[in-house]
Amino acid sequence: MKKNINIFNISTSKINLLDLNRQDLRCFLVSLGAKSFCAEQIMYWIYHDYCNDFKKMYNISIKIRNQLYEKSYIFAAKFIEERVSCDGTIKWITLINNQKIETVYIPEKKRSTLCISSQIGCPLQCHFCATGKEGFQRNLKVSEIIAQIWQANKILKEKNITKNITNIVFMGMGEPLLNLKNVVSALKIILDEYGFGLSKRRVTLSTSGIVPALDKLNTMIDVSLAISLHAPNNYIRNMIMPINRKYNIDSVLNSAFKYFKSSNANRGGVTIEYVMLDGINDSNKNAQELAFLLRKIPSKINLIPWNSFFGSSFLCSDINRINIFANILRKKGFTAMIRKNRGQDIHAACGQLTSGMKSSLKKKFI
Ligand code: SAH
Ligand code: SF4
Repeated sequence: MKKNINIFNISTSKINLLDLNRQDLRCFLVSLGAKSFCAEQIMYWIYHDYCNDFKKMYNISIKIRNQLYEKSYIFAAKFIEERVSCDGTIKWITLINNQKIETVYIPEKKRSTLCISSQIGCPLQCHFCATGKEGFQRNLKVSEIIAQIWQANKILKEKNITKNITNIVFMGMGEPLLNLKNVVSALKIILDEYGFGLSKRRVTLSTSGIVPALDKLNTMIDVSLAISLHAPNNYIRNMIMPINRKYNIDSVLNSAFKYFKSSNANRGGVTIEYVMLDGINDSNKNAQELAFLLRKIPSKINLIPWNSFFGSSFLCSDINRINIFANILRKKGFTAMIRKNRGQDIHAACGQLTSGMKSSLKKKFI
């Protein structure tokens, strides 16, 4: 227990309680002389009442509240900007040390999804992705990942939007498996009944396939997995995703299969993401290759029409081509869905999130 506490370096700085999952919070509270059940009480205040003021936590003893005040705080960075799409999608921007991160809310008929970021930028530089093109700043802390959900829920409440967030996807900025420790700790809070309390089937981690980290994730937590495959062979994947030279298709799919086998959250199969790039990966032959590649892996294929961004020379496959591609996969027995593009007018769609401040679109500051 002591070992854990030292990590937080209590003596030198205050701890943001949003950085702690339930287990960490227990250790911290016990070190202050509190009973361990105090962790559940405090998480309830934080994640159910959106309370960040120790004074209001009347069921916590004054002695412990004073200690908490001295040694910790609860801080979720506010969104500084909001953009609302004509399709109801909302993009929120947080400013962290002068750097931007983006969070996207996507309401649908039966569910509402929050797409969150795990890094500022991304070091992997997939050629079709605006985030990758922008370079990498740093990993987000647990509190910075959690703050996106905390603030989104709070704002939706304030706006009287009754549609709660039902699904969370790590499909915003960054490669979550390059920030494994913080992402897993955040996932624990997301799944915890005293945290956001979401079911593991409704929480998706999307990855370009960092094999050693995916194998580690397998031993750490069970959530829905989405693999950004985007190519039916190593030749094409090497061209569009430099990370493939390190972890090739076979190694990524093997690791995904291992995850699938020990997972309850992925009972319907792992999601395979495939961005449709005109003339690059969208031929009939490519569809057949893809079907062959995935023949032994229980999977659902998500075809993503490529979203354009300034300075990129790719083109999105036209919708007829995407339909033909999907039908080839369906005839081979796969579930192939074509992802709806949401929030394109506010640059909130997949792969359009950046940390730059360039957009000329009308902005609403909040
Ligand atoms: N780094 C992770 C998660 C963030 S990207 C990953 O790569 O999986 C979320 C999804 O959007 C990924 O499948 C990614 O490949 C896809 N994507 C990136 N740029 C895109 C673009 N311009 N158009 C459509 N999808 C894109
Ligand atoms: Fe990074 Fe994912 Fe974009 Fe690739 S697609 S650059 S891994 S965010």
